[in-house]
Amino acid sequence: MIGQVRETGKSATLFARALELFPGGVNSPVRAFGSVGGSPLFISHGGGAYVIDADGNRYIDHVLSWGPLVLGHAHPAVVRAIAEAAGHGTSFGAPTTAEIELAELIRSHMPSLERMRMVNSGTEAVMSAIRVARAFAGRAKIVKFAGCYHGHADLLLVQAGSGVATLSLPDSPGVPAPTVADTLIARYNDADSVEALFRANEGAIAAVIVEPVAGNMGLVLPGDTFLSDLRRITSEHGALLVFDEVMTGFRVALGGAQARYGVQPDLTTLGKVIGGGLPVGAFGGRRDIMERVAPAGPVYQAGTLSGNPVAMRAGLATLDELTRDGVQESLERTAAALAATMSDTAQRHGVPLHAVSAGSMFGFSFTDGPATDWDTAALADRGRFTRFFHAMLDGGVYLAPSPFEAAFVSTAHGDVEVDAFATAAAGAFESITA
Ligand code: PMP
Repeated sequence: MIGQVRETGKSATLFARALELFPGGVNSPVRAFGSVGGSPLFISHGGGAYVIDADGNRYIDHVLSWGPLVLGHAHPAVVRAIAEAAGHGTSFGAPTTAEIELAELIRSHMPSLERMRMVNSGTEAVMSAIRVARAFAGRAKIVKFAGCYHGHADLLLVQAGSGVATLSLPDSPGVPAPTVADTLIARYNDADSVEALFRANEGAIAAVIVEPVAGNMGLVLPGDTFLSDLRRITSEHGALLVFDEVMTGFRVALGGAQARYGVQPDLTTLGKVIGGGLPVGAFGGRRDIMERVAPAGPVYQAGTLSGNPVAMRAGLATLDELTRDGVQESLERTAAALAATMSDTAQRHGVPLHAVSAGSMFGFSFTDGPATDWDTAALADRGRFTRFFHAMLDGGVYLAPSPFEAAFVSTAHGDVEVDAFATAAAGAFESITA
């Protein structure tokens, strides 16, 4: 599509209608293209590696519903599983075989989830995991890292910006300050900042929650000893280590970051891929901790649609395909090739850029040096990203409309799509440096 003018009239018309219905015209903020401008693409349908918008433009999709669609859009096995399950009834609010099968499959790849509970979103998984962590530890404070996103539960809607031990202030109106007063902020890839918080709050910290590979400030990899340091520090201080693998689970490795980096958390949260494109989350971990959850224990947690049989079957069909021999390796190669394409093309055009990949995720930032934490990630040239993003759309590639998101590949992204990405990237760098 390079050089052609894309029709966007139908998406713009739909956006105008949506603005009359939804705050900002959307049902989740980043979708609105707020940080890149223009109206969001309204998606008409998807197939494999592609989405087609309301104006009939076709794009290679690297958003993939923000991660879940590891087999691409409308994979026949997933569609079949959903249709079959729906034909047998869409919800019972009672136990079914499907939830057992999905949980067994998850645990076979992530043995640290000795017990788990299914929920309906990543947000819900994290919120519930923190509740049980606090109950188990009998302590109130939690540590999170600046730049890590864990969903929109009140207690985690805080980044507090710079500095360890600065006063935690909510990121959003409507979150009362006392709600986040017990949320302490550390610096990603800086174990000393965590040690310092433990020293200043001895005996008061229930848990440290971390994205073991950070995917919400661009893609930021953990340094060599960061995760094992967190394991050591939390154990020394009697606190729990919670890996938020909502994004990384079945992405950075089949067994998630805990398998890739060989560090076992006490609790794990999952979402995205395990639902195969339907709303599913899960939290789980050590049996002695999870047995505190009702009705086995006193920590209340519940859900009308939790373990929904249609969603469980979509997740199972997805994981069945994904866990076939060689599939994960092939995804890794694709993501690595796209990161390399970004680095090489940027270098040819003299544009400072850092690109990385991990499993089936890749990311890039327009920065002089690698991003290792929020402070360095935030140095990204946002104006350049905006121009690059729109030029990639013109070249037929749909990236997340924000400089601080990871990109994803699916099994449907093959050599053709990798080559087309390279062509689009070459054109995009050409146009932003012209
Ligand atoms: N944790 C992480 C690491 C995430 O990336 C996200 C969503 N991007 C969430 C939690 C929240 O998940 P959901 O949007 O399903 O509530």
